[in-house]
Amino acid sequence: MTTPLADKIKAIIAVHGPISVTDYFALCLADPEFGYYRTRDPFGRGGDFVTAPEVSQLFGEMIGIFLVHAWEKHLKPRRNVRLAEIGPGRGTMMADVLRVVARLAPELHEVATIHLVETSPTLREIQAKTLNGHAGNVFWHDSFDEIPPGFLLLAANEFFDAVPIRQFVKTQNGFRERLVGIDGDGELTFTAGAGSLDPALLPPGHQSAPQGAIAEVAPARAAIMQLLSDRLFDSGGTAVIIDYGHLAGGFGDTLQAVHKHQFDPPLAHPGEADLTSHVDFETLAEVAQARSISVNGMTTQGDFLLKLGLVERAGALGRGKDATEQDAIRAAVERLAGTGPNQMGELFKVLAVSSPAVTLAPFEA
Ligand code: SAH
Repeated sequence: MTTPLADKIKAIIAVHGPISVTDYFALCLADPEFGYYRTRDPFGRGGDFVTAPEVSQLFGEMIGIFLVHAWEKHLKPRRNVRLAEIGPGRGTMMADVLRVVARLAPELHEVATIHLVETSPTLREIQAKTLNGHAGNVFWHDSFDEIPPGFLLLAANEFFDAVPIRQFVKTQNGFRERLVGIDGDGELTFTAGAGSLDPALLPPGHQSAPQGAIAEVAPARAAIMQLLSDRLFDSGGTAVIIDYGHLAGGFGDTLQAVHKHQFDPPLAHPGEADLTSHVDFETLAEVAQARSISVNGMTTQGDFLLKLGLVERAGALGRGKDATEQDAIRAAVERLAGTGPNQMGELFKVLAVSSPAVTLAPFEA
C-alpha cells in the first residue's frame, strides 16, 4: 500500500537523495497538498486519535482554572490581556477554558482577546465554528510571534509533539544523522547519512551508547520555547505546556505514527497517519531558565489535574445526572489522570513557566 505523499517523497529522494527525519516529519504533517493536518480533522472517534480536550470538557476546565489562578497571582492585569493557544485542534479546549473564565473571572473574560496559532486551514474553520459564541474576539495567527503585545496567558496541548525533530543514529563512525531513503524494493527505509552533530548536543553517556542507539534533538521546539520565553520576559504572563513526553532526556527512538487508533510504522502511511515524537520537557525548561523565565514546575498530567481538583470538579459535573452519564464522567477521569498504559495521567507531562516569577498551584512546594 502506498499513499500520494509516499510517492511524492520517493520522487524527491530519487532526485535529491535521502532526506532527513526532520524533512520527512515536516512533509508528513505539513505538506501543502498531502500533509496530515492540512487535509483533515484527525480528532475524535472517527479520526485517528483522541486528545485530552476531546475526552472530556473537564480537561479544558481544569486548564481554565489554572489560567485564572495565574492571572490572579499576576495581580489581575486588565490592559492588553491575551488568552492564547498554540495548535488548538478543534477549538474544544479553548471553548472549555472560556466557559470557566467567564464564570470564575468575568473581569478577565471581558478584557481578554483570544489568539489561536494554527497553520491548518481545515482546523481553523472548525475552530471558528466551535468558538462562534466568541466571534469578533478570536484572532488567528500563522506563528506565535504574531500574537500582539500584552500580558500573555497561554496553553499548548499536544502541540510540541507535532514539531519535527532530528534523529542521530550511532554508527561505527559515531552519531550520524538519520535519513529516510529508498530500499531495493522501492520502499521508504531509514538510513544513516554523513552529517554528524556537535557531541555537546548529545545526551550524556553518548560515548558508551551501543551501535544503533538513537539520539533525538529538537532545535525547532527549542526555538519556539525561546520565542515564548522572550515574549513572557517582555510582557509578563504564564504558559502551560502539556504533551506526551519525558521529564528527563536520554536515548531512544520515539518517532511514533498513529493511524485509525493503532500504532503504525512511521514510514508506512506518510500523510495519512499522525506522526509525533516524545517531548523532552527537561530541555524546554532549560531553555526557559536560560532566558530568565521562572519554571513553576514539571509534573505528570495526572498529578497536575488531581491536585487542581479534578475529582471534585467531576463530582460537581455528575451531580443530578443519571448513572450512565456518571459512569462516563468517571471513565473520563480515569482516562485523563489514570496511570495505566492506555491512560494519559502518567504518559503526559505538564510544564508551567511564568514571568515575573509567581507561585502557582499545584506546583508550590
Ligand atoms: N491541542 C489540540 C490539537 C493537538 S494536534 C488538542 O489537544 O486536541 C496539533 C495541533 O497543532 C493541530 O491543531 C495542528 O494543526 C497544529 N499545528 C501543528 N504544527 C503547527 C505549527 N507549526 N504551528 C501552529 N500550529 C501547528
